[in-house]
Amino acid sequence: MYKIPLPDLKEKIILSGKISAIDLDTKIKTKINELSGLISEEGAAHIIANELGINLIPKAEKMKIKELYAGMKDISTVGKITRIFEMREFQKNDRSGKVCSLILGDETGTMRLVLWNDQVDQVKELSENMTILVKSAYVRENNNAKEIHLGQQGELIPNPEGETITNVRESASTFQRKKIQELSDNQENIEIMGTIVQVFDPRFFYTCPRCRARVNDNQCAEHGPVEPETGYVLNLVLDDGSGTIRTVFWKNQIHHLLQKEEADLLTFKDNPPEFESLKTDLLGEQYKLRGRVKKNDMFERVEFSVQFVEKANPEEEIKQLEQ
Ligand SMILES: [Zn+2]
Repeated sequence: MYKIPLPDLKEKIILSGKISAIDLDTKIKTKINELSGLISEEGAAHIIANELGINLIPKAEKMKIKELYAGMKDISTVGKITRIFEMREFQKNDRSGKVCSLILGDETGTMRLVLWNDQVDQVKELSENMTILVKSAYVRENNNAKEIHLGQQGELIPNPEGETITNVRESASTFQRKKIQELSDNQENIEIMGTIVQVFDPRFFYTCPRCRARVNDNQCAEHGPVEPETGYVLNLVLDDGSGTIRTVFWKNQIHHLLQKEEADLLTFKDNPPEFESLKTDLLGEQYKLRGRVKKNDMFERVEFSVQFVEKANPEEEIKQLEQ
């Protein structure tokens, strides 16, 4: 059974024209009573849909983002990439792995697409604003949010023929807004907003294009001589009145923060004083950041690893306070 939220379920049943909204509510209550309250409203609605012969999810060759529900398998969908997050590596039971996620959207909504291990290598061929076809994927729920994962036969096809997505409808954020004071180690999907009070110089490093390990003198410990990729990291301190936190920006998020591209960043590597005026521009500016809170073991401090950066919108902030 797919996990379809109750309002969506009811809407689908009513749209079939086989039952009115009022009758449906009565029928759901009756059904729950019949089953001595052992069933949820969602469960009752599913049974009623079944009894009325309503196909809740007509299986389409390509599903719209809004039609994707947790529990679905072997689905295909087309979406535009609105965001590519940083790849990250993790250790689990002596084995290391990597994960990278991106946000995919169409005119019905947006959803996170998560890639694991070898699948992550495909990210190199992708870029933001690109339309992709996702094949043989499945949908699961994580932290109350739906995610698309690739199955065994899963495939990502960039720029599929005859498919373009012009408008993307942003789904409501699944990130939880917190005050900096409330942050503690190991929190994910967090949103903070504050003023930049300190900016450090970017640091540059080289990585192996195949395994992403750091390389020295163009030599990867595992892959031998390689043409390294340049990576960079930028730290800045954000203050929201409740406290301050060091925030860590990696490549893509630095591009978003500074509205610059790789070529621009490389000029700062060769000429650090050029970066000084950008620092001054950033100081005192307000930003909304989304990401995860992580302990930096080396420095014994909690840091915010940025996955999304956006200039704070004062009107939106006022609305949040009024809620
Ligand atoms: Zn390597």
